[in-house]
Amino acid sequence: MSETIKTDVLIIGAGPVGLFAVFELGLLDIKCHLVDILDKIGGQCAELYPEKPIYDIPGIPLITGHGLSDALMEQIKPFNPTFHLGEMVTSVEKLGDAQFRVGTDRDKVFECKAVVIAAGGGSFQPKRPPINGIELYENKSVHYAVRKMDAFRGKNLIIVGGGDSALDWTLNLQPIAKRLTLIHRRDDFRGAPDSVNKMRALVAEGRMDLKIGQVTELEGADSQLVAATVKDKDNALVRIECDAMLPFFGLTMKLGPVADWGLKMENGLIPVDLSSFETNIPGIFAIGDINTYPGKLKLILSGFHEGALMAQKAHHYVYPDKRLVFQYTTSSTNLQKKLGVA
Ligand SMILES: Cc1cc2nc3c(=O)[nH]c(=O)nc-3n(C[C@H](O)[C@H](O)[C@H](O)COP(=O)(O)OP(=O)(O)OC[C@H]3O[C@@H](n4cnc5c(N)ncnc54)[C@H](O)[C@@H]3O)c2cc1C
Repeated sequence: MSETIKTDVLIIGAGPVGLFAVFELGLLDIKCHLVDILDKIGGQCAELYPEKPIYDIPGIPLITGHGLSDALMEQIKPFNPTFHLGEMVTSVEKLGDAQFRVGTDRDKVFECKAVVIAAGGGSFQPKRPPINGIELYENKSVHYAVRKMDAFRGKNLIIVGGGDSALDWTLNLQPIAKRLTLIHRRDDFRGAPDSVNKMRALVAEGRMDLKIGQVTELEGADSQLVAATVKDKDNALVRIECDAMLPFFGLTMKLGPVADWGLKMENGLIPVDLSSFETNIPGIFAIGDINTYPGKLKLILSGFHEGALMAQKAHHYVYPDKRLVFQYTTSSTNLQKKLGVA
């Protein structure tokens, strides 16, 4: 049974632009839910450059991607948005005037008065390792994300990769797996040194295995893996029995399902009206890196501006009978009350 959640606005994407949209909408008494494929907020800032400094956020001379995500979360706290992370919006349907139904790949259904697409470069999708026939096992016994740890309890697991995701899941799943083997092409890991040390300690204690080499072949039937063959550093082939394999080879960005929602598109981007950042479908807005218009710059500050103008028009759909009065946060007691500072 799918759950139906009613909200004023559904925001697709919890990157910096989706997050700031919550603030601009919140000032106008508009409640939001946000959905993001990633299991964390922050979009590209959190996923691609969390530790890198950003120098062009107005009024903030230097802030990291992670720092900006945290600061935006603090700024939108008064509006108490609800996040649905690790979930992809797969469908957007117009039901009538100011009424939309939005569905996710986890069978959640939202009904809302406006939709804000803040989907950036599209969906982050896992990179598929170059192993013949791997797609035959995907989602049954090859998984690129861990949605429920318990699904791997008592299983013979193979984790492939040398970054933080591979190491973190090795440490988290080792205690519940029957046996866990971490496979990496070289004996040098990109992940946090502390995680590498913990993993090596488990190997030294005989509680898991580490194999240096590359998976070259998978064995199984009806999408169920039974073994993987690893070519080790001496080119010897080693067969490892397994029930499931979790490759963590990083993420790549693809447009994803946005292209199927009946919106006008130009080169994978959504053209918008410049006064409101509304798409060709009234009530659906596109802000941030996902939109296009003459002179568009894919900068965070552009997305913030777009969010402010979008909110003015979204107000019209959420409160069709209410007149909107422009106010400054500096001088409006009304806005300050909403922010919890007056
Ligand atoms: C290395 C690097 C350095 C950068 N440096 C700067 C800089 O110094 N200054 C600057 O202004 N900009 C910089 N940028 C660009 C900046 O990061 C982007 O402009 C900004 O992230 C766009 O924000 P957004 O919220 O529009 O999209 P994103 O940050 O891409 O977030 C979009 C979110 O939408 C989610 N999503 C997509 N499709 C769906 C779906 N169907 N369902 C659910 N969720 C979905 C994605 O998972 C993602 O989390 C840099 C970018 C990179 C890669």
